[in-house]
Amino acid sequence: MTDQEIGNLLYEEALRFVNRRFPRGWGGCAAMMTEQGKLLLSVALESFNGSAGLCMETGAMCQAQKENLKITHTLCISRDAPGDTPVILTPCGICQERLMYWGKGVKAAVTNPENRILFRTLEALAPCHWADAFPEEEQEHSCG
Ligand SMILES: [Zn+2]
Repeated sequence: MTDQEIGNLLYEEALRFVNRRFPRGWGGCAAMMTEQGKLLLSVALESFNGSAGLCMETGAMCQAQKENLKITHTLCISRDAPGDTPVILTPCGICQERLMYWGKGVKAAVTNPENRILFRTLEALAPCHWADAFPEEEQEHSCG
């Protein structure tokens, strides 16, 4: 599958899930593709204490580590109400750090003015990443 095909699939599955899970009001989720071909979906961990919450991407990343899957693509959407066109959200800085576990080649769908499905590698998002100061073998990576 091409990046565009994967992006379309992630977007469609994410939107289908969001409309089912959030029939009213705000809705959003992350959708990730793995090298093994398994698609992972996850939602934000909401908490009354805002600082205890977690980004939408976190659950899919935990699931990937649990099942020993290698994440290759990630896409996150958010919409204010059913029927609204969801916006694509670039992974936040912390999620980019978490995604780095699967290497700089992980492709993340990024926010853009036309709201197109546009992937950028983690390397492109952070070309001067701090981990470059350390030898590859010292960096913690997935075995995939
Ligand atoms: Zn995040």
